Amino acid sequence: MAQKSLPFSKQQLEEIVQAHGTPFHIYDEKAIRENVRRLQKAFSWVPGFKEYFAVKATPNPYILEILAEEGTGADCSSLPELILAEKVGLRGEEIVFTSNDTPGEEYRKARELGAIINLDDITHIDFLAKEAGIPEMISFRYNPGPLRQGGNSIIGNPEEAKYGVTREQLFECYPKVRSMGAKRFGLHTMIISNELDPDYFVETATMMFELAVELKQRLNINIEIINLGGGIGIPYHPEQEPVNLEYLGAQVQKAYNRIIVPNGLDPIRIVMECGRVITGPYGYLVARVLHRKEIYKNYIGLDASMADLMRPGMYGAYHHITVVGKENWPLDHKYDVTGSLCENNDKFAVDRMLPRIDIGDLIVIHDTGAHGHAMGFNYNGKLRSKELLLKPDGRVMQIRRAETIDDYFATLDFSKLKNKQSE
Ligand SMILES: *Cc1c(COP(=O)(O)O)cnc(C)c1O
Repeated sequence: MAQKSLPFSKQQLEEIVQAHGTPFHIYDEKAIRENVRRLQKAFSWVPGFKEYFAVKATPNPYILEILAEEGTGADCSSLPELILAEKVGLRGEEIVFTSNDTPGEEYRKARELGAIINLDDITHIDFLAKEAGIPEMISFRYNPGPLRQGGNSIIGNPEEAKYGVTREQLFECYPKVRSMGAKRFGLHTMIISNELDPDYFVETATMMFELAVELKQRLNINIEIINLGGGIGIPYHPEQEPVNLEYLGAQVQKAYNRIIVPNGLDPIRIVMECGRVITGPYGYLVARVLHRKEIYKNYIGLDASMADLMRPGMYGAYHHITVVGKENWPLDHKYDVTGSLCENNDKFAVDRMLPRIDIGDLIVIHDTGAHGHAMGFNYNGKLRSKELLLKPDGRVMQIRRAETIDDYFATLDFSKLKNKQSE
């Protein structure tokens, strides 16, 4: 049975728990830095390659700061995400704004920061012009629809996905914004999520390169930046293989040399908006076992819940579980591992074979570094956990405190209750 490792020993983890309590997400700074460097190296042949970290994956300024130090920009899709990018000192074209169904004030903020705006629809051209003005640099999100097979349960088939413009519309979009003053152009797509097959991204890059050639030939539009979006998967199951980033970089380079170079479009910048693959494997949700319950099935109740990690409940996603100190015990017990919500899908694992679990055991849920804490919600009055950072020197820093009941009540005004109870 394949294993997943931890960046701390049992004793180190017990010390962290002693100091901070459970539950918490903890992120491994060293591994995150090494990983983003690896992606950048795989694409170092690209003139001006840039990874724009998808802020929604881990919207914590300390994580964004670490990534910014490594040369990563930010991919934002809401006003608070733009403000987070601004707070860590990112500016101008270090930010891309890939939003959909966007309110005017968000476009205005993106314009104020000088971010690269990726429009999601042809009608958003006039909307942007009215709300914030057309910038010199502008990009469009392409949805290839039925021209592109594939998709998966997170994003769906391109044809069913709400994002982007059709091919026909794309050829209207560029002349339109050019006539409105735009001078520099980007082309974006994101049609897959959590995909582990690198050839899928090579095919997507190929499709985008061909499109750039066609835009040049038919409309004399020079695409300056091709944004391949995010969507690179991670091996949530210990048996799965991570995407070989070096292979991916080399295959995209081949397509570039075959399509972009002979058509005289070189240099075109290639950028990405990965979230999951950057931080996902380097975050861990640590919780303690509160209860064991044996009815028709055997349940292990944790002090963490769906509020801390939605993916299993929302998508039935697999997250590997380690019972700390029992790594080498036989996996001879079948459990549902649950949180405390009054929702039967508040389960981190269903019918999972694990070692015998006792009350008080520490449980580590793997691969929570992206779309983990960030997705949490407050349904059922559940409060989200704190976030910790494991520094390269082994120190631990709290980078977000846990929510409190006051946070939960912050939007309520109790003073107008008729039957006011004691303050
Ligand atoms: C969510 C999202 C990403 C990041 O996706 P990952 O699967 O985390 O790589 C990038 N771009 C856009 C537009 C997104 O919506």
